[in-house]
Amino acid sequence: MFNRKEIRTLKSAGLALLLSCLFSSANIFASPANDDKKPAVFSEKELQTAAWIRDAARTDNLSYKILESLTTEVGPRMAGSPGDALAVAWAEAKFKELGFDKVWKEPVTFPSWKRGIEKAEITAPFPQALVITALGNTVATPQNGLTAELVEFATLKDMLAAPNEKVRGKIVFINHKMQNSNEYGLVVPGRSKGASEAARKGAVAIVIRSVGTDSHRLPHTGVMTYDSDVPQIPAAAMSNPDADLVARMLKRGKPVSLKLEISASAAGTYTSYNVIGEMTGSELPNEYVLIGGHLDSWDLGTGAIDDGAGCAITMAAAEFIKRNGLKPKRSIRVVLFANEEQGLFGGKAYLAAHQSQITKIQAAAEADLGQGPVTKMASFVRAEALPLVKQMHTILAPLGIEAGDNNAFPGPDMGDLRMAGAASFGLALKADDYFDLHHTPDDTFDKIEPARINQAAATYAVFAWMAAQAPIGFGSGAELLSVIKAAKK
Ligand SMILES: [Zn+2]
Repeated sequence: MFNRKEIRTLKSAGLALLLSCLFSSANIFASPANDDKKPAVFSEKELQTAAWIRDAARTDNLSYKILESLTTEVGPRMAGSPGDALAVAWAEAKFKELGFDKVWKEPVTFPSWKRGIEKAEITAPFPQALVITALGNTVATPQNGLTAELVEFATLKDMLAAPNEKVRGKIVFINHKMQNSNEYGLVVPGRSKGASEAARKGAVAIVIRSVGTDSHRLPHTGVMTYDSDVPQIPAAAMSNPDADLVARMLKRGKPVSLKLEISASAAGTYTSYNVIGEMTGSELPNEYVLIGGHLDSWDLGTGAIDDGAGCAITMAAAEFIKRNGLKPKRSIRVVLFANEEQGLFGGKAYLAAHQSQITKIQAAAEADLGQGPVTKMASFVRAEALPLVKQMHTILAPLGIEAGDNNAFPGPDMGDLRMAGAASFGLALKADDYFDLHHTPDDTFDKIEPARINQAAATYAVFAWMAAQAPIGFGSGAELLSVIKAAKK
């Protein structure tokens, strides 16, 4: 398993680590009761194994193959669509094929939605068709469409500040350009809340500039929700080049009219499943490291980047450990969450089903920001576990991974688990291409680069292994809840 040179390097690295942890400033975080104790650290043997996993998993191509299988054999899998059920069946079969010790599913119920016809055209003063897509959850227009004058705002905030007379009877156009991957949180409220805010001011529909960083003529869909106190108006996104086109028309100073035709509809309550595969621990089988991604995608592409990659990365990570004869002390549980896209339904159902066992979660980390590589590892653990986190980072650093803070967010479907006190890790994925592709027809398998996804799978394998082997718990439950409460004050 190891060559000699590796063992020598690891031995000296292990010793240096042990010394650095014993005398490091991490000690100042230890609670008074532990002052006379040496901090818990990984043994040299554990460190050797972790380094071997890192180097061997990096060239293992399983995550790429799993993603090829999901995108080819299932493809689009919007929550509540026929693809949803196909994906659940695929996931169960794939976990079994990969040799997971336990495979099961847990129900997740939610309101579903159907896309229908979606068309838009400028009718005056420069008639031409636009490329748009309906936003998830939108209502339909009247059957033959609706036509009204466009009123443009640079941002949602600008629309909120405008007098109602400016908006009444019009189609609101929010032309908020997302400049880079850090601006998603800034721009996305226009998509999620814009319709109700526009309706409050009397608008008849809303079209937004796509929330995405590409310049292709492909619109980005995504979920929106309605407030209960205002009329529900149709909502769509146009591609970035179309938004530029419409803005140029508006600049000419004459009224610009848009015809919008959408036949989307609510499609009743649907029950899907969180699909779960577990590699059972040898010493503490009821405690587990929780990793995963979300199984649903939008319907326009095949969900390679969002979030087939996260599913494939984490399935491959757990499988790699088992295939190589390594027996984790704690269990490694991979959860493929149902319906993240339309409201985090899978994550909420998982928390509801496992709320009473938060202390059993050794560490939680979800992959949901594309194909990798992982660039940073942040933690959210009790103070006594920080020396262990430091060792984990030292093993991962050769993969180009920076050390983060101790205030990690584990990912969308695991965010509520963290708030319920679950020890969490944030394994930050490089998102340079993510917002060019996600929620568009362009989210397809050809964009995946083996070296990137393999690095991410290797990182998750090291993380899952080390968290499973840790000599102490990372603090899930009362201990981390008190940290959360103190931070809220
Ligand atoms: Zn996602």
